[in-house]
Amino acid sequence: MNDYKFTSDVVIGLEIHMEIDTKTKLFCACSTKAKEPNTSTCEICLGFPGSKPVLNKKVIDYAIRMGLATKSNIAKELVFSRKNYFYPDMSKNYQITQYELPICEKGKIELSSGKVVNLTRIHIEEDPASLVHPSGMSSSSYVLVDYNRSGRPLLEMVTEPELNSSEEARDFMKQLVNILQYLKIFDINEGIIKADVNISVKESGYKRVEIKNVSGFKEIERAVEYEIERQKEAVEKGEDIVLETRLWDSEKGITKHMRLKESESDYGYILDPDLVITDITSDWVKEVEENLPELPIERAKRYVKELKINGEDAKVLTLDYELSEFFDAVAKKVNPITAAKWVRRELPRVLNYNNLEFHDIKFTSDHFSDILELLEAKKITDNVAKKILERLCEKGDFDVKDYVKSEGLEAVADSGALEGIIKQVIDANPKAIEEYKGGKEQSLNFLVGQVMRQTRGAASAPEVIELIKKLVN
Ligand SMILES: [Zn+2]
Repeated sequence: MNDYKFTSDVVIGLEIHMEIDTKTKLFCACSTKAKEPNTSTCEICLGFPGSKPVLNKKVIDYAIRMGLATKSNIAKELVFSRKNYFYPDMSKNYQITQYELPICEKGKIELSSGKVVNLTRIHIEEDPASLVHPSGMSSSSYVLVDYNRSGRPLLEMVTEPELNSSEEARDFMKQLVNILQYLKIFDINEGIIKADVNISVKESGYKRVEIKNVSGFKEIERAVEYEIERQKEAVEKGEDIVLETRLWDSEKGITKHMRLKESESDYGYILDPDLVITDITSDWVKEVEENLPELPIERAKRYVKELKINGEDAKVLTLDYELSEFFDAVAKKVNPITAAKWVRRELPRVLNYNNLEFHDIKFTSDHFSDILELLEAKKITDNVAKKILERLCEKGDFDVKDYVKSEGLEAVADSGALEGIIKQVIDANPKAIEEYKGGKEQSLNFLVGQVMRQTRGAASAPEVIELIKKLVN
């Protein structure tokens, strides 16, 4: 059965298919961006007899990028094979893929916990066409085929079975998407990334069950959680765990039997005679390496060196590509240290409070730097800045500078004006003043609160305290 040494009760391995963002398909010049069904096809991606595939070099460059970013061994030769199967999504009855020699082997990806997950391989293959079931998978009486997707480039990554929980599976996917984004080889809005999840538990003697095509971080976590419980319960009831492929039903939150697990030998792989074996020279790899986009580690180093941000902040900011891009844009407009403090601490706090994820926000880095510019110029206080940020999270898009003006949130920087307000508060609250003089600290807080209310948070609290003390005595 399995020759892998298991040290954990739950063992999870992933096989991930990633759509790679190129302009044209893997073996022909058809666009990868077409939306209308069957408008981006030719004799090659429709598999007409006699048509010959022509390799898209960009895909190989991108695969090498991925290999370098995951510290993989890059193959010295590019070898393509035919995986034979019959299905309407593959009109030539075989898929061109890499079998004997994948382009990358033995890479690694680090989880946010610091745990390193080893990668067995990464290889290149063509996407099949998409099947459209007009009234749902189970109730449609016919199926439509859209060949726009046929021949689009995919990278498939296979991990060693080293993940041990649903959280780790989810985190792995997150780290992977982050790398893809840094490498600029994946379109986060249009690109599809799907995982086949292999799960086994100690209770069954690690019999491997596969869940097909799960997409989305949350879905993977849910599917894994469900499947672990299902297997444990089945064993407890005395049922056998069979080596099978299951489907994840996201609506019902369950996995369902799809078919018994086929083995790779069922596909009768042969080397593709149309694609000659090409050398991947060290010069080629070097060229890709020289043009490799900035990766998280280098970016963090740059933040420390050039922007003078502390190492810990730099690390957290670069862990998420989108957050890091956001920070970069803000740090171009305001002091980077202020930007780091607010992007790393205040923004997550407000997002968390509103139960939002970073990619849910409807405001831009410009809104954010507007707030920080006003703060740096001492035109608003910390408190007001936080409130505006909270409002941006709730309402999304509005003009920060206009809002501060129209709501009268500008800091009461003129201490003469502030003194006037404090005098009014003192006159209106003789009882609190007496208590404060009698040594009751809470009364001072109450008075500060009254001033803050009148100034709508636009005064600085330490200054208010100082002025109250001065005026009372
Ligand atoms: Zn084509």
